[in-house]
Order: sequence, then C-alpha cells, then structure tokens
Amino acid sequence: MLTLDAPEGVRLRRFWRHHFEECSRLSHAYEAACNAFIESGGATRNPRPPAYPTFPNELRGLPCGARNRRGEPCKRTDLMLNGRCKFHGGMSTGPRSAAGQSRAVANLAKRWAPDRHEARDERRP
Ligand SMILES: [Zn+2]
Repeated sequence: MLTLDAPEGVRLRRFWRHHFEECSRLSHAYEAACNAFIESGGATRNPRPPAYPTFPNELRGLPCGARNRRGEPCKRTDLMLNGRCKFHGGMSTGPRSAAGQSRAVANLAKRWAPDRHEARDERRP
C-alpha cells in the first residue's frame, strides 16, 4: 500500500483535483462545440472529441488518507473527483448557483403545495 507523509499527500491530492478539472474543462468545451454544431444544423465542422490527458502514473493507487475514527489514515483507493473516498468527501454544499437555489425553492413550494396533499387524500379509499 502507498503510504504518504502529509505534504506529499496534499500535493498529490491537489494534482488529482487539477487532473480531473482539466478533463472536465475539455469535456465541457467539447459539449459546447457539439451543441453549437447541432444548432448550426450541420453548417459548421463536426467537432472532434478532445484528447484527454492520460491518467498520471503518480496518482495510481492514491489512498484517500482522511483520518478515520481510529485516528489512522483511510486506506480506500476508490476516490471521487475531489480526491477523497465516498466516506470522506465531505457534506453536500447544497445548491450554490442562484439558478440552483431558485430551483430548490421551487421544488420546496411544489412539495408543500396544498393541492398536492388534496390529490393524495382523494386517491385514498
Ligand atoms: Zn476515506
């Protein structure tokens, strides 16, 4: 198993996030180019898929490294895009954009709309 001292772990995790941010940036650019191609109705050139960077060998087998309840570094290697495992990724931040927040409020209003409960009660025998 790969064991790391703290500064090396921080550096590799930063590298990990940077790698996937780069992949995400390329993916979004490609998606935008595809949408532009579709909207143009075939007038522009069909966009080529991006050349994604290869996964760095340095990051293979990188452990999560978060401190677990025994006080030891977590050994899981199935990491998410933030460089931590599914147990140590942190809590959801909730909607962050103004559009996301307004969607959340709209869903809340839909959930607690009085009509919704009346419709449910009518269905019951
Ligand atoms: Zn973990």
